Amino acid sequence: MFKSIYKKIKKWFYLYILHKKYYRTGSCNACGRCCQKIYVKHKKVIQTESEFERLKKMHSFYTYLKVVGKDETGLVFECENLDKETCKCKIHKKRPGICRRYPQEELFGMGGTLAENCGYKLEPIESFEEVFEKIQKRK
Ligand code: SF4
Ligand code: SF4
Repeated sequence: MFKSIYKKIKKWFYLYILHKKYYRTGSCNACGRCCQKIYVKHKKVIQTESEFERLKKMHSFYTYLKVVGKDETGLVFECENLDKETCKCKIHKKRPGICRRYPQEELFGMGGTLAENCGYKLEPIESFEEVFEKIQKRK
């Protein structure tokens, strides 16, 4: 009984106060994959080193990244703070907020996905049927 009330309040809070569509569940298994093969999007996915140099002046997080390649999406980066042997972050305690909050659902809006085998999951707060019902009511 209390469990179901708690679930309803939580759902309401996430949907209407936080304006979220997904619950983040699971935990980090420290695989380090989200610190490698990173695309950087600022309005659009960064394509050139000169675009990236400009971006570095805007946020210190970008100064940690180095270009490791380019593909059809854009420049590919990896973070220099990742210890390749242990797959651990060398500045874990002082890591930037963007790393602390990973993964957030905004990732999907940027066309991204969770890193392969990430220990987190982003699970829809409302089921497909609930969303469908809401749309029908609005008509
Ligand atoms: S600062 Fe640490 S957690 Fe953030 S991307 Fe770099 S290695 Fe990963
Ligand atoms: S990909 Fe997921 S599990 Fe792996 S280090 Fe990043 S947050 Fe943790």
